[in-house]
Amino acid sequence: MNIGNMTKKIFLVIIFIVFTINILPQAYSVTTVPNPKSADANAFVSNPNRIISQATESELNSMLQELEAHNKSEVAVVVLNSIGNEDIFDFGVKLFEHWGIGKKKSDNGLLVLFVLDQRQVRFEVGYGLEGVLPDAICKRIQMDYMIPHFKSGDYDQGLLHGVSKTAEYIRGEVFDDEYLSLNKAFNFKLSNLILPILMFVIAMFFLADKQKKIKNDSLLKFNSERYSAMKTATNQINLLMILLSFLMPFIVAFTDLWSFLGGWSVVLTPLMAIPTNRIAKTMSNKFRRQVPACSKCGDKMTLLSEKNDDKYLTLSQVYEEKIKSVDYDVFLCDSCGLTVINEYKGKVDYRECPSCKTRDFVQTDSKIIKRPSYVHTGLKTIVFHCAFCGFQNEQSVVIPKLSNSSSSSWGGGSSGGSSSGSFGGGRSGGGGATSRW
Ligand SMILES: [Zn+2]
Ligand SMILES: [Zn+2]
Repeated sequence: MNIGNMTKKIFLVIIFIVFTINILPQAYSVTTVPNPKSADANAFVSNPNRIISQATESELNSMLQELEAHNKSEVAVVVLNSIGNEDIFDFGVKLFEHWGIGKKKSDNGLLVLFVLDQRQVRFEVGYGLEGVLPDAICKRIQMDYMIPHFKSGDYDQGLLHGVSKTAEYIRGEVFDDEYLSLNKAFNFKLSNLILPILMFVIAMFFLADKQKKIKNDSLLKFNSERYSAMKTATNQINLLMILLSFLMPFIVAFTDLWSFLGGWSVVLTPLMAIPTNRIAKTMSNKFRRQVPACSKCGDKMTLLSEKNDDKYLTLSQVYEEKIKSVDYDVFLCDSCGLTVINEYKGKVDYRECPSCKTRDFVQTDSKIIKRPSYVHTGLKTIVFHCAFCGFQNEQSVVIPKLSNSSSSSWGGGSSGGSSSGSFGGGRSGGGGATSRW
């Protein structure tokens, strides 16, 4: 046996071992997955089982190299036969942390983990990229650009399309796509009415319940008390609707219900406040106009119209009605002539005149006596005037010192230069998405 033969045999054994390792489903652990950075600082793809072709691997590498040059984002693509029984989510988080994908300061890393025997792909997104790659977008990229190719066994195309779409998002170039999906969401469907109607029904139940409670509340004796209790209920439902209207876009966008509930529900739901308020107002007015029995003779009283009630009001009250600072309801007993006058405050900028008690006292002028500075407070005079009796009042008001608008600045962070031979040391944000095929 000569040396040449020996070498040949050893060579064949090595080939055999390498071949066997590669075809047997070898389960990788976080520490045994070959880190592409160890071999080449410009590599981003780990493809130890040769599941994707050499050509695809280098295309992905140059795509991701370009992306890193563009905005320092680091995307690692890991294509494995098997990770055994490990959960792809846990494995992804651990591998992400182990390699430290993304720059340390900005955490702008992404791990695309493909596991053939589990038929799953997982995006593990660094904190810094969660803004451009929210979970819903990751899921959409996987479902639209990867899974269809994976299903037909074309892993090369699936990874190329998915990774290149993801790179577009990271570069902030996906306007057309967003526009299209927005357009789709604004195609009106009957299902778009579900949220607005639900909102309206909830509001109606709430108002009807309040109305009933106010009616049966023995502590609320007067029309004005019941009226203001109903007003409070109206404000509560308005607040709830405003709150839900702010949440609505998030509810619709972050559930997979976007195309079902639709963009229209985001617009229509707040609009439900219009009929709701109208109905609430009717309910309040009903309390206000409820005709009481005469306390003197027990007969029914009647509510006088705005025009007819003036002769039962004082000049001051008529003036208040004219400037809408107070609205008076006058009930008259036809039998004995007793009147009941209820007052409802209107415009809030009017106060009661200290002299004649007419609610028409209003600020008419303000003069700055001394301007405030950074070290001294200032002083101004506010002039109040009653147009009914002519009373005038001046009040001195202190103007607070000027303050430096707190000078805020950015953290002054730097993006740690890419050290060759490893990923930047970023941490995963726990966000991302997994899809099966
Ligand atoms: Zn009477
Ligand atoms: Zn006055």
